[in-house]
Amino acid sequence: MYNLAFMPSLAQLDRKVLWHPFTQQTEWEKGIHEDILVISRGRGAYLYDSKGKRYFDAVSSLWVNLFGHNEPSIDRAVERQLKRVAHSTFLGLTHEPGIRLAKELLAVAPKNLSRVFYSDNGSTAVEVALKMAFQYHAQAPGGRTRSRFLTLKNSYHGDTLGAVSVGGIGLFHKKFRPLLFKNHTVMSPHCAPCPHNKRPPARLEDYEYRGEDPRPGDSREKTACRWECLGQAEAVLKKHSKEIAATVVEPVVQGAGGMLTAPPGYLKGLSRLCRKYRVLLIVDEVATGFGRTGKVFACGLEDVLPDILCAAKGISGGYLPLAATLATEKIYNAFLGRYEDFKTFFHGHSYTGNPLACSAGLASLALLKKRLKSASFKGTLKAFRDGLARLSRLPRVRQARSAGLMAGVEIVGDEKERAGKKICMKLREYGVLMRPLGNVLVLVPPLSSTSKEIGSLMDRVSHAIREH
Ligand SMILES: *Cc1c(COP(=O)(O)O)cnc(C)c1O
Repeated sequence: MYNLAFMPSLAQLDRKVLWHPFTQQTEWEKGIHEDILVISRGRGAYLYDSKGKRYFDAVSSLWVNLFGHNEPSIDRAVERQLKRVAHSTFLGLTHEPGIRLAKELLAVAPKNLSRVFYSDNGSTAVEVALKMAFQYHAQAPGGRTRSRFLTLKNSYHGDTLGAVSVGGIGLFHKKFRPLLFKNHTVMSPHCAPCPHNKRPPARLEDYEYRGEDPRPGDSREKTACRWECLGQAEAVLKKHSKEIAATVVEPVVQGAGGMLTAPPGYLKGLSRLCRKYRVLLIVDEVATGFGRTGKVFACGLEDVLPDILCAAKGISGGYLPLAATLATEKIYNAFLGRYEDFKTFFHGHSYTGNPLACSAGLASLALLKKRLKSASFKGTLKAFRDGLARLSRLPRVRQARSAGLMAGVEIVGDEKERAGKKICMKLREYGVLMRPLGNVLVLVPPLSSTSKEIGSLMDRVSHAIREH
């Protein structure tokens, strides 16, 4: 039994028994950059630590929380479901929240998508998409084995091995190279700076394939953009489309790669190339989905119709683990047949389609539809844009880039100086919780944030950057 006098604090106990994700435990144990914050409750856009200090949750608890903590209508939906049943399997059984949420998801998704396959986190949503695309080609009429994917540099699709295989961030992925399958990787469509030193962006109508595989030029002189990024993708597709199952892309914003925004038209252009070369298009909307970019899905910004869409993070309003992979009827049909044809999609997880999570998802989606149409949301978006414009004028800021309510503010300097981390620690003193990506400060506040809350957040971020 514990001797009460030697009862460790929660923080001390944490240092003894836990191993945290994406965390250098040596620093964590020694408290080199930060004290351990024990979060004890939340309300609206704020979290409270065990000492009662209040923090604005400026990363929405890692990009998942859309309407704040303890949102009454989501609480009620989960409580109601909890009184019925907390969990039952989706393998061979079904339930009301799972069915209703699927219907609602399809109603807001790109209109060609007609089937919902549940899982429980973003990485699994991507794994499902990769396996689906692979098996689809093997089983489709006249199909064949296609074991490669077209992927983008700087992309992040999750931490399971399939998702890592299609990812493109050296820091996370290089170590595991011997375990990964090979793909065709092309440049990230990030314009600032353009690796070809081109003046961005061009109009998509001006894109024309030039029959070569353009490489980054060393010309110092700026010339006009010719969509070199699309040209690279087309060069690969032209040569290898028969072995490529799908193109995998984070639409509009490459999130974990540093909030890198693609020029308008890129997604549309890439989707046209996929059609032209008969390669499936998988959009990973795990970060961009559920209103982050101002539309329910970022695909909607360019009227792109993907073959497969991956959703997670915001899907349950940040309440419970849930994910969904949406597919077209054409893909679904390739899996139909007699049992002994073995066309079944043999994939699933213990907590697939958990009913508590689905009921949170239903309540959250109802709020989202209202929020995106509201005048106050437009005010929030404007406050966010204005605040970022102010930040971008600070001498220590190299660039502030954003889409809707997701932004990266890149700080100048060597990454080894850990400026991002230090500024975020300073912000804790000012009552703001943030987590950087290297030198990039990440701002992903709840969609329910008021314009006043956003203004105050931007003031505090500006202050912390200037003090650094
Ligand atoms: C976070 C993220 C994932 C992984 O989701 P997890 O729930 O952390 O497994 C996949 N893709 C994108 C674009 C993400 O931002």
